[in-house]
Amino acid sequence: MYWENELETLNRIDLEKLQVKRLKQTIQSAMNSQYYKDLYRQLGLSADSVNSVGDLQKLPFTNKQNLRDNFPYGFLGLPQRDLIRLHSTSGTTGNPTVIFHNRHDIDSWANLMARSLYCAGIRDTDVFQNICGYGLFTGGLGFQYGIERLGCLSIPAGAGNSPRQIKLMRDYGTTVAHAIPSYLSRLYEVFQEEGLDPRKDTKLRTFVIGAEPHTEEQRRRIEEMFGVKAYNSFGLTEMNGPGVAFECTFQNGLHIWEDSYLVEIINPDTLEPVADGEIGELVMTTLDRQAMPLIRYRTRDVTTLVSEQCACGRTLRRIRRIGRRSDDMFIIRGVNVFPSQVETALLRVEGTLPHYQIILTREVGLDQMEVQVEVTPEVFSDEIRKLETLQQQLGASIENVLGIRVKVTLVGPRSLARSEGKAKRVTDLRNV
Ligand code: ADP
Ligand code: ZN
Repeated sequence: MYWENELETLNRIDLEKLQVKRLKQTIQSAMNSQYYKDLYRQLGLSADSVNSVGDLQKLPFTNKQNLRDNFPYGFLGLPQRDLIRLHSTSGTTGNPTVIFHNRHDIDSWANLMARSLYCAGIRDTDVFQNICGYGLFTGGLGFQYGIERLGCLSIPAGAGNSPRQIKLMRDYGTTVAHAIPSYLSRLYEVFQEEGLDPRKDTKLRTFVIGAEPHTEEQRRRIEEMFGVKAYNSFGLTEMNGPGVAFECTFQNGLHIWEDSYLVEIINPDTLEPVADGEIGELVMTTLDRQAMPLIRYRTRDVTTLVSEQCACGRTLRRIRRIGRRSDDMFIIRGVNVFPSQVETALLRVEGTLPHYQIILTREVGLDQMEVQVEVTPEVFSDEIRKLETLQQQLGASIENVLGIRVKVTLVGPRSLARSEGKAKRVTDLRNV
């Protein structure tokens, strides 16, 4: 029924036993690294310090800056000859974040990916097109190994070149595709340009979408445009990449693979755990990684832990959709704003496309926020009065969500820049 019947339905007591055993092993391997060896010796900590999951709180947090400061080998728990691969994030601001893997790590990651895909109803009869950059980015090879482990026919398509993606889909009868959500809106436009309807002209039935925050509304639009079910996939390079948490067919939160990751949700200000079901920062510990174990890593991603059992029967807990990171927030006129809130407000109004851009400026000392949003071709050819009404509706919808007035500019279809990578929604011109 599941990819791993026993592990996915463990009762809490047995699960915690397994977690404590693996946590002790993790601390032991971590203490082979320069970073954890120095830190834990100084604090008098060792594998013996933990005898329950709650004991985790005795251990210090690890953050991105620690990884950067000890770049590249400071967190390595194994000699270099045991390593077989590395992945890294782009590192536009300072040292990149690099994660090393030995054979065991790559193998268990492939297994977690296969489990994730199975959980979303994907089977070995599927034809799986991975529309994702191969290389240092984890979404390419991470998915590739999982797709093969599950036994689908894989199409390692790579990112971009939409006409080619569409041709691959039609030539080989692709049933499942993985891509970032902002790209799929772009891909739909190219289908239209070619006079094709993905609902009729492909065999697509499932999408796996992730790697960037997106709203429930955006998911539903993608599902409608393509006639598919779209499942949310969450991961981060520090925890391998994809395959950390995944939606099951009930699409009601993402199951965290708790046999391989310990999860905590903390208040980012007090660093204390939040009460059950409250929102906070996700903190994760690897339980099954040998080359580069990470303990209490602060992800900066904001979510809630769901403890009720899921209708699918898996006992592994779920997290709610990640709507934001604690660090993509901006403050405008004293109000904390997340791009996802603007998106929610825009998509509540008919006639817009999920392409928008937020521009922040400062005029005479006062912060101004402009939202440029693309309208559908139908709306764009309408008379000016209708456009003005739409503009007002959008302004009111944003004001309703954020509590502030912002300027809304309607732009024609396809006039905003498209990115092949993750969408960049905010341009902040206030400090230049
Ligand atoms: P980078 O920091 O370069 O984007 P990653 O590729 O490791 O590095 O991206 C991981 C981050 O992407 C996560 O910490 C999270 O903020 C975001 N992310 C990944 N998957 C999702 C998802 N399904 N929903 C929302 N955000 C996601
Ligand atoms: Zn479930």
